Amino acid sequence: MARERGPQCKQCRREGVKLFLKGERCLTDKCGVERRSYPPGEHGRGRSRQSEYRLQLREKQKARRYYGVLERQFRSYYEKASRQPGVTGENLLRLLESRFDNVLVRLGFAASRRQARQLILHGHWTINGRRVDVPSYKVRPDDVIAIKAGSSASQAIRDATELTSAVPAWLQADHDGLTAKVLRHPERVEIDTPVQEQLIVGPP
Ligand code: SF4
Repeated sequence: MARERGPQCKQCRREGVKLFLKGERCLTDKCGVERRSYPPGEHGRGRSRQSEYRLQLREKQKARRYYGVLERQFRSYYEKASRQPGVTGENLLRLLESRFDNVLVRLGFAASRRQARQLILHGHWTINGRRVDVPSYKVRPDDVIAIKAGSSASQAIRDATELTSAVPAWLQADHDGLTAKVLRHPERVEIDTPVQEQLIVGPP
């Protein structure tokens, strides 16, 4: 499966915010953004020219990197969001937020989206009793998520739950049983992301 490659901390430093790509390390003082809060590269500390195009580009890249989505996938999410009724930017975030890999992170069942993707690809999770090994699978209200019986990843998943302080109200998690339920679609205020979607798509 295609995915974003290259050093993850550099991606955060490029965007100037913590994108939480490395799980537990992101919560420590080893975080690249905490240690070097300027963009990577020879000219990282130089002054960069600001333009509207640049702002939009950076915001789009930030969203892509935060959710671990490639350029083509991102464009198709955007096209889908613009066909839906309502505010395109909010629709876009809702689509990204409903990805199975992101949902596992929100539930506390994975420390990072990369770990979530690996767990899904290796077939450790089921939705409504059926194995789902597609990280981009879009969860729907009433979906029941559960670890596959006999999964060898249960300890790693339990370790990840230790890092989670709160599960958003649109999801319900049982950290002992390693099961969860999608209660409804997320509201914009419940989507905890550093992305300002109106900069990507323009004002509503
Ligand atoms: Fe980003 Fe995490 Fe690296 Fe910090 S440790 S720069 S949040 S990937």
